[in-house]
Amino acid sequence: MILFFLIFLLWYVPLVGLKNIHPSLPLIFTLALAVLVFLMISGGLLLIFTILWRRDILFSHKLRGIVTKVLFPFMILMGKLVGVSKERVQQSFIELNNHLVQSNHHRTRPNQLLVLLPHCIQDFDCQIKITGNIKNCKGCGKCEIKDLIELSDQYQIKIAVATGGTLARKIIVENRPEAIVAVACELDLTSGIQDSYPIPVIGILNERPNGPCFNTKVDIQKVKDAILDFLEPTSP
Ligand code: SF4
Repeated sequence: MILFFLIFLLWYVPLVGLKNIHPSLPLIFTLALAVLVFLMISGGLLLIFTILWRRDILFSHKLRGIVTKVLFPFMILMGKLVGVSKERVQQSFIELNNHLVQSNHHRTRPNQLLVLLPHCIQDFDCQIKITGNIKNCKGCGKCEIKDLIELSDQYQIKIAVATGGTLARKIIVENRPEAIVAVACELDLTSGIQDSYPIPVIGILNERPNGPCFNTKVDIQKVKDAILDFLEPTSP
């Protein structure tokens, strides 16, 4: 609604000035804005029906790019204007992205799927270095790294731990996955989804019962569901 109001102002305010320049300019300007409004309404409806029907309609796979590159910065701006926290907007963006990825039914082979985890999911007191190789984990069960490795073994998919955005990008460049299941906080997931585009990413928010960046947790079932969303039906 705010956007339509801004477009109305953009249309109404310069009309008199344009008429003074040339009598047909107001009509041309009105038609141009009408096309813009039509595209916005069509895009919005396409987005809504893609999510509701959970399938790819027309060129709705392109919507993910538009949402990532255009709509999200706009959502942050609108959030600021109407007093919605950045964290809440990021959560909405992650959900919207996940719905669109699932609607596209992107399928991949297990060795092309990467599960990317944040370092804070490892037990804080664990002395084992798992960032270089997560399989160094001894499987003591004090943190969910053990369960996540078991999940990756079960489906024969790649799994890695990143300490931050730079390492995450390096892991993605080295592994060249076709799809990613990422676990992280709002900020890291949002930037990760944006940076990884066009690779489809399903983002899962970590749980932070001990505060941010410390002994965080994740719902293993959600990770499993996201993995299955990407794998061919024939996979184990
Ligand atoms: S499960 Fe692995 S990573 Fe977690 S505390 Fe035990 S050895 Fe360390």
